[in-house]
Amino acid sequence: MTFRAPKGTDDILPPASRAWRRLLLTWEDWAARYGYDLVLTPLFEATEVFARGVGEGTEVVQKQMYTFTDGGGRSLTLRPEGTAPVVRAFLEAGANGIMKLAYSGPMFRYERPQAGRRRQFYQVGVEYLGSREAAADAEVIELGYRFLTEAGMSDLSVQLNSIGDRECRPAYLDVLRAYLDRHREVLCEDSLLRLETNPMRVLDCKVCAPKLSDAPSPVEHLCAACAAHFDEVRAILGELGVPFEEAPHLVRGLDYYERTAFEYVATDLEAAQNAVGGGGRYDGLAELLGGKPVPGVGFALGLDRLMLTLGDVEEPHPLDLYLVVAGERRREALRFTSELRRLGIRADLDLEDRSVKAQFRAANRRGASGVLVVGDEWTEGRVVAKDLTTGRQEVIDVGEVAAWTRRR
Ligand code: AMP
Repeated sequence: MTFRAPKGTDDILPPASRAWRRLLLTWEDWAARYGYDLVLTPLFEATEVFARGVGEGTEVVQKQMYTFTDGGGRSLTLRPEGTAPVVRAFLEAGANGIMKLAYSGPMFRYERPQAGRRRQFYQVGVEYLGSREAAADAEVIELGYRFLTEAGMSDLSVQLNSIGDRECRPAYLDVLRAYLDRHREVLCEDSLLRLETNPMRVLDCKVCAPKLSDAPSPVEHLCAACAAHFDEVRAILGELGVPFEEAPHLVRGLDYYERTAFEYVATDLEAAQNAVGGGGRYDGLAELLGGKPVPGVGFALGLDRLMLTLGDVEEPHPLDLYLVVAGERRREALRFTSELRRLGIRADLDLEDRSVKAQFRAANRRGASGVLVVGDEWTEGRVVAKDLTTGRQEVIDVGEVAAWTRRR
């Protein structure tokens, strides 16, 4: 076999994939607890959705999109992010009012691959559409924080900023441009270009940012309405018990953000890949896509990067029970396993005709926490139940198996 997964993509097989499954289940649980419904959109969109929605001047649109022409001559792009498609879907459905949506799935960006920077990567995220309230920003930020904490992230910092809106940002950009113009000699080539097109992005440049620590920040130039909004976000986060740090130079790489911008940072990862997720308010996005004004706030978290910070967290017991079958009882054992599965127990068995010893080895390899031996006792309606975590073994009635499993 000479085929390999394309550069910058990954196969995720067991046992590593068990931790992924647990993470995805945790995500669905937390998104549902906060009242977010599931949204599914296509993996590709008309290229214009991203060109307009993410912004022509952004790195994502200029350099990172997987764009192709389909058989009908349409220009399509594999989604590099999830927000523009969700807002497109909301507008297309003619939806109104508040809609809270959660998504999860692969995104695609043509990047120089390294650890935590992949060409296909997996994001989960939410979009809170239809609200301008600061409480919506705070709730969104809280959900990301609670999920990441529950997922096991310990060195987590929530970085918070406000980047103003269409009212106050132009004046700030003038001040910033003038400052950057005075510091041209420390700017890299990319930043010199951005100075004209997208000056706020210069603050995001890993090379230049450390040399620009005294640059004017957007918070110093907020209009009264944006300042009040930001105050409220901070106050509510405090009430919700979400710790955060103000990051006056935090900007987001995508054009559609207004007011609140935030990142979840893994303080134990290298700076280039330490943002596990980020988000913000994007009240102007729906109009950029040609729709009516729809305010919104959301975030996206990168699970590949989250996995890096969590390290090798093996899911110790993906199976509750492994059935070891002695003698000619395989069909009966399969029927019994089926009953257990329908009771909500994660159970499996060997369908090959292998030795008891080989089946015990399989039970261990598969990470079962318990084994049932379907042996001679079976004819009397009993099985040997062994707890693999303690080594304790007992003979129990078949009718007790579910309770025995749950008791452990
Ligand atoms: P963004 O959509 O750029 O705001 O990214 C949000 C999060 O997605 C980041 O904080 C990363 O965790 C993740 N992410 C973005 N791009 C990549 C990539 N190329 N590879 C892996 N994760 C990524």
